[in-house]
Amino acid sequence: MTVRQETIERLDRIPNVAISPGALLSHHTRFGIGGPAGLYVEAGSEEGFREALRVARESDINYAVIGDGTNLIVSDKGFPGIVLRLTTREITRDGNLVRAEAGAELQTLVNYAIDAGLRGLETMTGIPGSVGAAVYGNAGAYGHSIDERVRQVRFFDGSAVRAIGAAECEFRYRESIFKQHKDWIIFSVAVHLEPAPPEELRKSAAGIMKIRLEKYPPTMKCAGSIFKNLIFAELPESVQSQVPERVIREGKAPSAYFLEQVGAKGMRNGGIRVADYHANLIYNAGDGTARELRLLISELKRRVKAKFGLELEEEVQYVG
Ligand SMILES: Cc1cc2nc3c(=O)[nH]c(=O)nc-3n(C[C@H](O)[C@H](O)[C@H](O)COP(=O)(O)OP(=O)(O)OC[C@H]3O[C@@H](n4cnc5c(N)ncnc54)[C@H](O)[C@@H]3O)c2cc1C
Repeated sequence: MTVRQETIERLDRIPNVAISPGALLSHHTRFGIGGPAGLYVEAGSEEGFREALRVARESDINYAVIGDGTNLIVSDKGFPGIVLRLTTREITRDGNLVRAEAGAELQTLVNYAIDAGLRGLETMTGIPGSVGAAVYGNAGAYGHSIDERVRQVRFFDGSAVRAIGAAECEFRYRESIFKQHKDWIIFSVAVHLEPAPPEELRKSAAGIMKIRLEKYPPTMKCAGSIFKNLIFAELPESVQSQVPERVIREGKAPSAYFLEQVGAKGMRNGGIRVADYHANLIYNAGDGTARELRLLISELKRRVKAKFGLELEEEVQYVG
């Protein structure tokens, strides 16, 4: 499926929209992997994004929405349709309520809250990616996730902009209603925070950042954890009894534990490797491909299934 010239021209005429035919998606993913997009489109306003989406729909071509590409595996063949990205980045504050547009970096929001002396996001320091995707995947770390702070999410449901509260977002561990409705596009989020001394927040964020930078060096081409952890209480008893208590955190059995038992650490397939210090961290050592990455992921899932009868679920999202 190719994007017709007429569609390209229509998109090119939309204010605040920049188009790039054939853009390599490897330049838009942290893995550094992914072939060309039929058309790569960045919208710097919500109106521009809505209009671009309308044109994409009318031209009957597949589209995909991406954020900063830090949790994506894009096919080596790329994505023949339209890849859309919303780049609105404004962050504003009304007392303890902070509103961020979807394209803002999560780290910018975290820093904004810390500087404003507002507690509640500092444990998310160092999680790469955009605010929109953080809501989509209910991002979190160190025992907290964004859902705890969400007051309202504004999104485009394909025909109108709607706003829903946290309960309606159906947040769970790395899940939200937006994962069930992939055509709902998050435009902004309002988070409710609590006053706290900025110095205290800064100190706690700096401690977290130090640990994270050791685990994920900034140049590492990866997506953080490949697989979701498992809710311990939901595991079959036969598996529960094999998991040492010391590895259970916040009621979750880390996927890394099971992966380690099947010899994942240090495994490689072409240019793709599993970190030798963390079994749930896969990275592109230089010239890896999506094919190699997918094969390695399948092999890891097969091994865990064979040994424990468990189906690991990817946290990463696939495009193409
Ligand atoms: C080094 C490293 C460490 C990480 N550590 C963590 C961690 O500790 N905790 C954690 O939770 N995650 C972690 N991640 C994963 C990643 O940071 C998150 O998943 C992040 O939220 C992805 O943001 P993104 O903008 O890059 O989204 P992308 O990877 O571009 O997209 C992810 C998904 O979000 C959807 N999406 C993007 N924008 C929107 C929108 N506006 N509306 C609707 N859907 C949208 C896309 O369609 C896609 O399915 C880590 C990743 C890396 C590389």
